Amino acid sequence: MDLEIKNLSKTYSNGVQALKDVTLSIPQGMFGLLGPNGAGKSSLMRTLATLQQADSGSATMGDLDLLNDKAKVREILGYLPQEFGVYPKVSSYNMLHHIASLKGVSSKGERKDLVESLLTKTNLWHVRNKSLGTYSGGMKQRFGIAQALIGDPKLIIVDEPTAGLDPAERVRFHNLLSEIGEQTIVILSTHIVEDISNLCNNMAIICLGEVVAKGNPAVLTEAVKGRIWKKAIEKKDLEKYQDEMQVISTHLKAGQTVIHVLSDTQPDASFEASPSNLEDVYFAEITSRMETISA
Ligand code: ADP
Repeated sequence: MDLEIKNLSKTYSNGVQALKDVTLSIPQGMFGLLGPNGAGKSSLMRTLATLQQADSGSATMGDLDLLNDKAKVREILGYLPQEFGVYPKVSSYNMLHHIASLKGVSSKGERKDLVESLLTKTNLWHVRNKSLGTYSGGMKQRFGIAQALIGDPKLIIVDEPTAGLDPAERVRFHNLLSEIGEQTIVILSTHIVEDISNLCNNMAIICLGEVVAKGNPAVLTEAVKGRIWKKAIEKKDLEKYQDEMQVISTHLKAGQTVIHVLSDTQPDASFEASPSNLEDVYFAEITSRMETISA
């Protein structure tokens, strides 16, 4: 069952329009929502998670109206917010038992089986009796996923999950998410392009509240193929290049400034053709909408 979001808009009371007519069709599997800070990703996630009201538009999964059937949505939703507090003195084993009973898993035996299988799945079994306050960032995130999985959710929303994780923790977390994504819809919001290219079959780029690109990451990347050019420049010349051509990103490589330019033809003989990747797609979409982005 796909999640259909149609013409969703939201303006906060301070006048910031965080979502502008967002329309997305989200199938089963991992769906990546990519955008710079302030793009509107959390606003969209919170709206789908019934934590805030949209001004207009709809979001449905089959017969379920996500914007209005809040109690029913909570039954099928697993949500891992950007920041979530843990009770530092409680062990993950006891905390999961507690959350499971709050979520209505009333049989003790059933709860025990569920908690044990979640701890195994999220690779926390060996630390199940340690208090949550002693967990590393990656362990906390995996605990977050374990609690989000209670109740067999059909829709899982994960907001910026890999911030602060070290590379090994990030890989472990990615593997866990993609395993979960085989059975449900998982929406993963991030500003890290690599998270999406590694994990997601479908994605959308959101910028200033608007969906500016959507589709399969490989197909989107193919669309800029042959149009990305790179050159190592003197840092002081950057502005000149920005005035003359569409510089989509600036990288530092071995102490040198390397620019990527989007152009149908080679800007001049000093530019080299560059293989396109999802990062180029992302910057091509957002730099034309925002002032200057350097990476
Ligand atoms: P992202 O998750 O992509 O970083 P957000 O959805 O948090 O983006 O924010 C989108 C825009 O809405 C930003 O300009 C942000 O400052 C603004 N915003 C977010 N939450 C609120 C709020 N509760 N009240 C007012 N403005 C908000």
